[in-house]
Amino acid sequence: MDTAIFHKDFKARPFWWEDYTPQALPEIALPKDISVAIVGAGYTGLSAALELARQGVEVLVLDAAEPGFGASTRNGGMVSGGVNVGKRYMSKPMTADQAAPFLNDAADAFTHIENLIARERIECGWHKRGYFLGAWCQSHFDDMAKKVALLNAEAHSDSYIVPREAQRAEIGSDYYFGGMVVGRAAHLQPALYYKALLGLALKAGVSIASHTEVTGLSQNADSSWVLTTPRGVARAGEVVIATNGYTGGVTPQLRRRVVPVGSYIIATEELPADLAASLSPRNRSFADTRRVLTYYRMSPDGKRLIFGGRAKFGHTDPVTTAPLLYQFMIDRFPQLKGTKITHSWTGNVAFTLDELPHMGKFDGLHYALGCNGSGVAMMSYLGHQTALKILGKVNRVCAYDQSEFPSHPLYTGSTWFLPLIGYWFRTRDWVDRLWN
Ligand SMILES: Cc1cc2nc3c(=O)[nH]c(=O)nc-3n(C[C@H](O)[C@H](O)[C@H](O)COP(=O)(O)OP(=O)(O)OC[C@H]3O[C@@H](n4cnc5c(N)ncnc54)[C@H](O)[C@@H]3O)c2cc1C
Repeated sequence: MDTAIFHKDFKARPFWWEDYTPQALPEIALPKDISVAIVGAGYTGLSAALELARQGVEVLVLDAAEPGFGASTRNGGMVSGGVNVGKRYMSKPMTADQAAPFLNDAADAFTHIENLIARERIECGWHKRGYFLGAWCQSHFDDMAKKVALLNAEAHSDSYIVPREAQRAEIGSDYYFGGMVVGRAAHLQPALYYKALLGLALKAGVSIASHTEVTGLSQNADSSWVLTTPRGVARAGEVVIATNGYTGGVTPQLRRRVVPVGSYIIATEELPADLAASLSPRNRSFADTRRVLTYYRMSPDGKRLIFGGRAKFGHTDPVTTAPLLYQFMIDRFPQLKGTKITHSWTGNVAFTLDELPHMGKFDGLHYALGCNGSGVAMMSYLGHQTALKILGKVNRVCAYDQSEFPSHPLYTGSTWFLPLIGYWFRTRDWVDRLWN
């Protein structure tokens, strides 16, 4: 391993935790009777809890670890309305008519988080500076050009194509075959957004039990639920499963519908000002159309590059993956050679078999799951939508609230096959780049 890339103060933990580290809350007695219990205290769980509590519903949120320990304080902080769903449309399994309702709701997800941050005056380094999606090969660029009109019409994404010869205005790199700008996109400091959501939920009266893993769920004859934990039991009228990439054996029917995949990020040391400014001249965030995805943006103060990607498809430690991510970074920005990295970390995202996020009700349990790697806006929105559904206050059914949540007979939760998929994706990427 190339240890020369590590800064002397290197930490194998999220850079975001320098501002806010998830911490256990004061211990509470588990209520014996509560209207709604929510399993998982990430963006999804807290967004649902916040809306319910503000509407006068008694809510208990339980988390197996410190609230925020999951993906919600570990992510890249890139906020896009609809691009994830747009990606599925771009890879052709959906027609434009099929994609439209999903894109509409994805646009609403962006509106939801933007309004929340403005209304609650959340200080979380929100920069609405757009997003540049780099084309990995010529055919990906040609495909993008065909989809811009739909993204603008249905996701209000303010998108436009950037030919290769003009991409230096967007990114300090010649790596891509051009790309697409999505104007309606932002980046934020994910742990500070989380901290604010947590504060709002507590202020609204939500009870939160840290280090309280739900190990059993059973339904009574009156359809209420008993939640078993190592700290005792709680009884609730309704239960929401908000465990995303950490969904475990307590909900086997949901675990077999989401595939947890590790995503990895590194943060560079502070860069010289002119070098930092040249990487993202418009302070955009970035991702590419490669199957082995990379995503990156500057830190909120503009001094560091935060660079993420699927360095490995299996679950491994972030020190081992750091040199791989570093190489991906240097491929795109050779001018960063020699830069040290100060942080490297990982977290789980949840993929679904149809590549769409899902909310709904299964075996009597509400759920909102399956961010597919893009959940800062979407999972906040689906948590909120789930609360509205429980409250009976939805004006229209959310597009992601579908009765069908696909599973595969050979998948029950063991992800032994992920390294094989990684190998296949890398080969396909290589062939695409070589032949297109
Ligand atoms: C490295 C990384 C980078 C990412 N980058 C981006 C990005 O740039 N933009 C974007 O939009 N999205 C990104 N995402 C995705 C985004 O972070 C997630 O979609 C979002 O945080 C999911 O929130 P959540 O509340 O559903 O789940 P989480 O925040 O993961 O919370 C789930 C919680 O459930 C708890 N739990 C699980 N089982 C139990 C149980 N039995 N009992 C009690 N508690 C339980 C866990 O402890 C965990 O705290 C990224 C994710 C990762 C990991």
